[in-house]
Amino acid sequence: MTAPEPMLHPELLASDDAEAIVRDGRRLDHAEAASKPLRPRPEPQPRGAEAHGRRPIDQAEAAARFIAAPAHEMMHDERLWDLRQKRDREMHGIDEWEELRELAAAIKEHALTRLDEYLEQFEANARTNGVHVHWAKDAAEHNRIVHGILQDHGAKSLIKSKSMLTEECGFRPYMASVGIDVVETDLGERIQQLDNEDPSHVVVPAVHKLRTDVAEVFARTIGTDPDNSDVHYLAEAQRQATRPLILAADAGMTGCNFAVAETGSVVVCTNEGNADLSANVPKLHIASIGIEKIIPRLDDLAVFVRLLSRSALGSPITQYTSHFRGPREGGEMHFVLVDNGRSDRLGMEEFWTSLKCIRCGACMNTCPVYRRSGGLSYGATYSGPIGLIIDPTFNAHKYSNLPFASTLNGSCSNVCPVKINIHEQIYAWRRELVKRHEVPLAKRVAMKAAGELLSHPAAYRAAIAAADTALAHLPRFVIYNGLNAWGRHREVPHPPKETFHGWYQANRGAKE
Ligand code: SF4
Repeated sequence: MTAPEPMLHPELLASDDAEAIVRDGRRLDHAEAASKPLRPRPEPQPRGAEAHGRRPIDQAEAAARFIAAPAHEMMHDERLWDLRQKRDREMHGIDEWEELRELAAAIKEHALTRLDEYLEQFEANARTNGVHVHWAKDAAEHNRIVHGILQDHGAKSLIKSKSMLTEECGFRPYMASVGIDVVETDLGERIQQLDNEDPSHVVVPAVHKLRTDVAEVFARTIGTDPDNSDVHYLAEAQRQATRPLILAADAGMTGCNFAVAETGSVVVCTNEGNADLSANVPKLHIASIGIEKIIPRLDDLAVFVRLLSRSALGSPITQYTSHFRGPREGGEMHFVLVDNGRSDRLGMEEFWTSLKCIRCGACMNTCPVYRRSGGLSYGATYSGPIGLIIDPTFNAHKYSNLPFASTLNGSCSNVCPVKINIHEQIYAWRRELVKRHEVPLAKRVAMKAAGELLSHPAAYRAAIAAADTALAHLPRFVIYNGLNAWGRHREVPHPPKETFHGWYQANRGAKE
């Protein structure tokens, strides 16, 4: 019988002794070997942008920290690009894909331009179905209304499914301040809640985390083995920890993907069935609804359901498309219709169509800046391309840096299932911020100088020639110093030996 193969990596074994462990060429005694980790520690999770009062969010600084964590950056980029490729495969399987996008955009624009009529129709039908309907002009009113409903029922604990609107309203911190326990039922959102972080993506809230990050969070909060980052182990541990809280909750809350005016019902799409738990386990169900979620007819839903999951995750349909129309027997249902700046946005000529967004996240998955900087670097509820055009509508000063976090390549607009001209709106926001004096002086001066240079070809060519020489010969500190904000986060590429213009002049120009 042959001896069993040693389990250790060959490099850790002394060549003449199968039992010995060596590191850096030095033989270790067993105690030392057993007491020190033989694997490197996992890379710590980079944290997102910090908010300092009303000071503009420094997205570039937070993105630089994300890039400096290579395991996170690579995983994030690959995961999201994988979603983008899956989306493309699904799209190619539907011949009428472009017609669906046209139709979805038209339905949304129709509904938004008659929003008052459809909201009233929705309210009337919901009331007929036995639902209590509330109107909230802003985040604070939304939170107060929900708190009031909970107080009326003596509720002390609330389970909720993922909702970007409640993130926008600062709902969880508010509930904590009034002594109500909130438990997120979506796994990714629960991970973020336990880690005291906002979601970094509208569909996959913890997509920026490595498995080892999740293992660390769960070990700290629900007592799992910190060295076990097996996804099945972690998901099961979370299920065991959360189920008793769900079963004991006094009230449940959901968001809303679509509010159907003709039926007065709300539709919530999830892959975990967690909205159904939130809505059906406790007797009290509250749905928070952004007023832009209205669609006129149930038939319209078919268009969006075909687009949503394909655009978001590259899957043909979400696992659960749940319709909530009225309270179940012995229960109570409340709809809270929230404005929170949406009416103002509807009046913004260049930005109102951002209200068409169905929060699929496709623009984020395709954006090269988002993929390499992580959603938390934006320091706002909405990140990625859609965040760049929504966030400044809430606070143009605080989010004045965000519209510059884009290459304007247009990929976001190309994948958007409701055909929002995202990159054009990003560009429009840049112009708007200049008009409102929200762009720092250094950037304004640099842009003005660049504009002058680009409009004078001879000066431009002379500057390029001088820059090539400078890059080749000047000491590094002259180019990479505190005055060059661009160079703080990037390496200037080596200039090619010959410019395109030089090549053209030499090879084509003379012949013309
Ligand atoms: S802007 Fe378009 S692509 Fe981006 S999340 Fe909204 S619907 Fe999806």
